[in-house]
Amino acid sequence: MLGRRSALVATLTGGALALATLVPYAGAAAAPDDRLAPPPKVPTAVGYGGAVASVDADASRIGLEVLRKGGNATDAAIATAAALGVTEPYSAGIGGGGFFVHYSARTGKVETIDGREKAPAAMPHDAFIDPETGMEYPFFPDMVTSGASVGVPGTPLTWDKALRKWGTRSLADSLRPAARLAREGFVVDETFRQQTVDNQERFAAIDSTAELFLPGGSAPEVGSRFRNPDIAATYDLLGRKGVKAFYRGPLAEEIAATVAEPPKTDDTDLPVPPGWVTTEDLAAYTAPDREPTHSTYRDFDVYGMAPPSSGGTSVGEALNILERYELAGMNDTEAYHHLIESSAIAFADRGAYLGDPDHVDVPVDALLDDTFAAERACGIDPAAARPKPVAAGDAYEYDGVCDDPAGPGVTAKDTENLETTNLTVVDRWGNVVEYTLTIEQTGGSGITVPGRGFILNNELTDFSTTYRPDDPNRIEPNKRPRSSMSPTIVLSDGRPVLAVGSPGGSTIITTVLQILIERLARDRTLPEAMAAPRVSQRNAANTGAEPAFIQLYGGPLTSLGHRFASTAELGAATAIEIGPDGLLTSTAEPWRRGGGSALVVSPVD
Ligand code: GLU
Repeated sequence: MLGRRSALVATLTGGALALATLVPYAGAAAAPDDRLAPPPKVPTAVGYGGAVASVDADASRIGLEVLRKGGNATDAAIATAAALGVTEPYSAGIGGGGFFVHYSARTGKVETIDGREKAPAAMPHDAFIDPETGMEYPFFPDMVTSGASVGVPGTPLTWDKALRKWGTRSLADSLRPAARLAREGFVVDETFRQQTVDNQERFAAIDSTAELFLPGGSAPEVGSRFRNPDIAATYDLLGRKGVKAFYRGPLAEEIAATVAEPPKTDDTDLPVPPGWVTTEDLAAYTAPDREPTHSTYRDFDVYGMAPPSSGGTSVGEALNILERYELAGMNDTEAYHHLIESSAIAFADRGAYLGDPDHVDVPVDALLDDTFAAERACGIDPAAARPKPVAAGDAYEYDGVCDDPAGPGVTAKDTENLETTNLTVVDRWGNVVEYTLTIEQTGGSGITVPGRGFILNNELTDFSTTYRPDDPNRIEPNKRPRSSMSPTIVLSDGRPVLAVGSPGGSTIITTVLQILIERLARDRTLPEAMAAPRVSQRNAANTGAEPAFIQLYGGPLTSLGHRFASTAELGAATAIEIGPDGLLTSTAEPWRRGGGSALVVSPVD
């Protein structure tokens, strides 16, 4: 196993810097002369004085500026997130929700804000059943593109609350750079164009969305400048009047009216049914503090997001199982075999127990108990893959003894999309923010609030769309759908050493788990851990994996009985490592989703 401080730092020098200089930024070289080049992106930066990592160069730059001017990690995180609402409007924005995890250098505590979207009070159990047919709507694009899928957004309140708890700047200050970016425009890259093209049919079905995101009837060209004065004006409004201007008053009324009667075009075949979010739902929304999940992996303390996210318990349970094995002494095949087996088990338990803790009893302590992990590890055969899906364990009665051979289980239906966005910030004082935010599907519900410049989420499709009374993630009014978002902060001897998070729907859990294992157990540098080909077993017969993973490790793992399904890419993570002398390694994806942008205040050459 990688040692603690010394090894974490010892590996930070050569590998990280070398990788940073090798990776060119996407798009620039290919841009013809008459087109603008997107700003350069570098996936790894090493230095001091604060760091930001996100998927987008403009957003990371805006966050870094805040740090440079004396803002702290929360100030920079909100400015970065607001900018992502401009440049990544299909993944995140004020129409969605997320989970904000904060480490305070002053108190030494990790705390979290639950900004998850909430079901409206009138949401019925059969919300996703087409009244015409009595059957579930086809998932994409029909169910997704609907008022019925829209939950009460949590992102604006999360920003305001985080700034009040930990920030030094006002909401107005934090939104200003993003508003400027929206007015001046950003340069369209391949990823933004492709995401627009992929959503063209459903965006064209909604007048307000077509008007904003399909200018002239088609997706914006790569190299063109995309402006969104409407979101700039909405940010200005929130800056002037405060976050209450989102949850009450004219904007709240417009949101409710848009959900009740989505502005669909006359000539679309999509049903785009209405939903239930009312002005009362908006006024009643809260973003509660949640105790973070806590588990240990060897000498590391791992803090994650508690329910309604399944991230903290699932990552923590899999780590508890894995710490029973000497992964460092294993070859790749053995180590990945154990990673795959442990994540199948964690997903079986996730399906059985995870939901909104305000509505269902979630046995968080049991799921993170080493005795429970010991019992769950009993089913792992070091020399053969278990048939999957595997059964859930009994989190209410366990003793850590291997007397109950594990049986077959069921694979939970998985409709979570592979998008969302994530950012990581560390400031000069040692405060850390790990923040994952989303509007769920790429393009959310596809419904833009007319004249306001942002798309409403479709987060309610993260509920189990078919109602079953014993399902912890069943639809209920005023409930938050289960999430997979896994913003994670790792401490060693009470000091933060690593923060990591990722987009990717349910694969968020496996991406974060794998990065942690690559870094903490397998002696990889953080940039190597971020670049490593990914694998994602979510208690299904087939294990998802990137083509490079299958090419490198698929042969021997298949001989153990694993079966793989190829997935082009898994995650677009960000992470920052903090060395004992304050040396920061800021990392974003080297290539996934067009690559990310990692920056530090004072780079080390
Ligand atoms: N809706 C997902 C969740 O809350 C995230 C969506 C995504 O990553 O694409 O876990």
